[in-house]
Amino acid sequence: MQYVSTRGGVQPVNFEQALLEGQAEDGGLFLPERYPQLTDKWDSLKDLSFSELALEIVSLYATDVDVDALRTILRDAFATFDDADVAPLVQIEDLHVLELFHGPTLAFKDVALQVLGRLFEHVLSQHNQVMNILGATSGDTGSAAIAGVRGRDGIGIFIMFPDGRTSRLQELQMTTVREKNVHCLAIDGSFDDCQRILKAIFNDIEFKRRARLGAVNSINWARIMVQIVYYVYATLRYDEPVTFSVPTGNFGNILSAVLAMRMGAPIRRLVLGTNENDILARFFASGKYQRGAVQQTLSPSMDIQVASNLERFIYLYLDGDSEQLVQFMHGFAEHNHATLSQNGHVDATIDARRIDTDETIATIRKTWERYGYLVDPHTAVGIAAAAHTDSEGPVVCLATAHPAKFPSAVNQAIGNARAQHPRLQVLDEKHARKVKLPADQQEVRSYIELNIIK
Ligand SMILES: *Cc1c(COP(=O)(O)O)cnc(C)c1O
Repeated sequence: MQYVSTRGGVQPVNFEQALLEGQAEDGGLFLPERYPQLTDKWDSLKDLSFSELALEIVSLYATDVDVDALRTILRDAFATFDDADVAPLVQIEDLHVLELFHGPTLAFKDVALQVLGRLFEHVLSQHNQVMNILGATSGDTGSAAIAGVRGRDGIGIFIMFPDGRTSRLQELQMTTVREKNVHCLAIDGSFDDCQRILKAIFNDIEFKRRARLGAVNSINWARIMVQIVYYVYATLRYDEPVTFSVPTGNFGNILSAVLAMRMGAPIRRLVLGTNENDILARFFASGKYQRGAVQQTLSPSMDIQVASNLERFIYLYLDGDSEQLVQFMHGFAEHNHATLSQNGHVDATIDARRIDTDETIATIRKTWERYGYLVDPHTAVGIAAAAHTDSEGPVVCLATAHPAKFPSAVNQAIGNARAQHPRLQVLDEKHARKVKLPADQQEVRSYIELNIIK
């Protein structure tokens, strides 16, 4: 399988290159040149375990990775989950939830990042290479990325976060990791400062090459690819087409559902839930993509005003017309807005809804009172969005984080300390380690230079 850049400015690459490069050098994002169909073998997929199904799907895309190696990588990655089903489907009366939080850091990003860390290690060792991952996080991504690569050969990881501005649990999930290849950089500044430093360092192509810098944010194709698996896995459990409701920030998770549909999975509709940072809800209602100011909400992993993966969706919407896509992206970069569709409608299969803080809290409470089921604020946004849709058939809500990761929002809703998880309770007793640095590009770069894996 070959991969093309959405911006059409580079030659197609193979899977390993798309994996290691992350973003294409023309600034675009990689997508496969075609989407293999699952329709013919659909019934035979029903009996597969999660890990076996993952091998079926991933081997269609990672065609240049040895199948036996892939099998081991996928088996080991999903063995870190604390549920034998990996992504169990919970049904309580009319509430259907796909639990994606059974991995090491209790958020859905583990599903892809546990695979990605192992894939990196395998591919790098095949080519006798090393990699130093640099990332910035406001919360979940950092800990899941660290959990994916801790102790892996030939990989260093440097994660910047705004000191004192992530939740206490989120910080401890990163800083209590002992392995020497993990560096938590507590930046004296905001998340925007961290992102600015990240961009500046990545834009220095000479340094990027010399330090063999790599990225793990959701623009990496391999993350999108792995996430397709749970949509197919869930759809196989039903005899009729399914609607999924997906709490959305960067459009990475829901994009995998769009691609599962392209592969023939019987998905009726997609409900996209946003919090007050509703750029996507506005976009899907009006065809106009317009940046707003980021607001802090109870669902911090969705406090995003520019959804990096939307570029892939727009490319598909434009039938692969890179010229038009580049026009749209440049227009947006220049004017902070761009229009895709004049008639105000983008895609009938995506039903996008904005859910505010009050409704999020009310949904946590209602879901607890009515079903005895506790959800985190991100998941609550998806459940609330699903309640507004008029789609027929089963609606499966994605649970993207364990409620214990966001205890204050959950306790605010149900009034006592029910949101707990044993793995989070022991974090306080562990030794924490972080490097405090000023919000200064040069200082961060010097620290990286001294500590990279060579
Ligand atoms: C990252 C994250 C999201 C948003 O996913 P995207 O792929 O960015 O749309 C939702 N919920 C949780 C808990 C997350 O960590």
